[in-house]
Amino acid sequence: MRELNTLVELSQEFGAQSEWVVAGGGNTSWKNSKYLWVKASGHALATITPHGFAVLDRSRLETVMCSYQQTGLSKNVKEREQQALEAIMRARIPEEKKRPSVETLLHHLLPWPFVVHLHPTLTNGLVCSQNGQHIMKQLFGPRALWIPPTDPGMVLAQLVQEKLHQNPNPDYIFLANHGVFAGGRNADEVQQKYKQLNRILLNALKKPQLSLQKIPPIKSLQELQHIHDIPQGFTLALQETYGMKAQGIFYQDKELFPYLESSLTAQPLTGSLTPDHIVYSGPGALYLGPQEWEKTKGDGIQAWSQACNSYQKKWGKLPLVTLFHRDWSLPGALILGHPEQVNLAAQLFQNALEICMYSQSFGGAKPLDDSFVHFIVNWEAENYRQQVAQSTL
Ligand SMILES: [Zn+2]
Repeated sequence: MRELNTLVELSQEFGAQSEWVVAGGGNTSWKNSKYLWVKASGHALATITPHGFAVLDRSRLETVMCSYQQTGLSKNVKEREQQALEAIMRARIPEEKKRPSVETLLHHLLPWPFVVHLHPTLTNGLVCSQNGQHIMKQLFGPRALWIPPTDPGMVLAQLVQEKLHQNPNPDYIFLANHGVFAGGRNADEVQQKYKQLNRILLNALKKPQLSLQKIPPIKSLQELQHIHDIPQGFTLALQETYGMKAQGIFYQDKELFPYLESSLTAQPLTGSLTPDHIVYSGPGALYLGPQEWEKTKGDGIQAWSQACNSYQKKWGKLPLVTLFHRDWSLPGALILGHPEQVNLAAQLFQNALEICMYSQSFGGAKPLDDSFVHFIVNWEAENYRQQVAQSTL
């Protein structure tokens, strides 16, 4: 089918460029009046083929939306998400076996035949910022909708549906701390909208963007100890906690240093900017600043161990990213974990830093609330996406 091929080309084109999506995020679709072809969970846009799309019956999706409008959503989050997932799975055409994107209902609702949902770094500079909504209104007026941080899936679909009643055909739907939806009748319309979005946002930047250092290759803990002069006792403590197989990347960039000054300046990085960051680089970085250093009278291992324990208590997992203030004679970000996690975590950490830099033009970065981060950490669908992405990377 011609449209499906166009959808594949469009998806691959956007998916191949890290300025639009990172770590296989984003999703795309095409629909006619009867059916919806939407990216299946676990497929990356860059390498997607026609087989990476799930086909759904739109009349059944409509029934799902209507039934929730009548009965309301379960207050129990787990129950609600389970119900929504089952309803979407039932809306697949009979021969379909793939699991459709968690945003399937949203794709069904949007007014454009082709829909491209991305997590662009520059756009996220706006939607992850303190004044994002206000500046969006100034820049786009009625051409755009703003959706505050919202649980993905069913709740998001309902909220967008309500907003579309007031403004039925916007050019852009901005999702705070997440990304953007845009679409059109054909590939050209979609490409033009995204080009224009970039042009408008680049013009709004207060200073030209500087490029960041390349992420260095992943190393063993012994190699890192040698290159960065990490005290042996600390290397051993890290090894004991993270396991013998742990590997890491030590990332330094002069753009990172201002964020390492205090726990306050580090907040955009100790918090999480979008669900992608939570899923791939963990629920925020661990920060070791001057206070932690002084509290233990310069016993770095003790300070790190205490901070690491409280992080584990809070999130139920070890930090993938640890930030060190210059007092630690190791200023920068240590990304540590299982080898298959580390590269993605480093990529997303660098992406968060870029978003923070862009957001300076829009009032500074605004991380997600802890309660939202907890929701994503525990969310079954995101865990599924992570597992599938890891097994295919
Ligand atoms: Zn998304």
